[in-house]
Amino acid sequence: MHASDVADDLVEVLFTEAQIQARLAEMAAEIDRDYEGKDLVLVGVLRGAVMVMADLSRALTQHLEMDWMAVSSYGSGTKSSGVVRILKDLDADIAGRHVLIVDEIIDTGLTLSWLTSNLGSRGPASVEIATLLRKPEALQMPITPKYVGWDIPNEFVVGYGLDYRERYRNLRDIGTLSPKIYS
Ligand code: 5GP
Ligand code: MG
Repeated sequence: MHASDVADDLVEVLFTEAQIQARLAEMAAEIDRDYEGKDLVLVGVLRGAVMVMADLSRALTQHLEMDWMAVSSYGSGTKSSGVVRILKDLDADIAGRHVLIVDEIIDTGLTLSWLTSNLGSRGPASVEIATLLRKPEALQMPITPKYVGWDIPNEFVVGYGLDYRERYRNLRDIGTLSPKIYS
């Protein structure tokens, strides 16, 4: 799905498919450099991070393992609940390994600060975060993602894995959802 297919639902396109791919390639180059020769496990946070994981992992030139976690965050609304629950845990044993959490957006940062300490308690060699987007509020949480695609304003965005009531995940671009859709 392209932004033109849902033009009426969007206030604006923030990042096009091409811009997203270009930024992910830059992030991948940094990650390749930082993790050269290391045992790397990418941990994707379902379901929003599926697109980022697919494209970021393929932009990397080294061997890695992909694993997934599902945690509860938003329910079906547009505000963070603050409640984090594991719905699906890792299959991989991460003890002694370098973990890079892959996510599409950090909003309050509640989910990822909780996940970082949870994974950190399993004896990994390191735990870092790569996120495509970060909202300003995240800066008030004690988490510092090592890789950030872009900082964005505090607006509700959809596309490239980001949903509103499970829709728009398959939108190739990232756009600001029109408030008329959720009001
Ligand atoms: P946090 O715990 O950082 O507040 O929330 C992270 C999760 O909230 C994200 O993984 C995503 O599922 C959801 N989220 C936060 N902001 C947005 C947004 O602007 N659009 C969409 N679609 N989801 C968001
Ligand atoms: Mg997410």
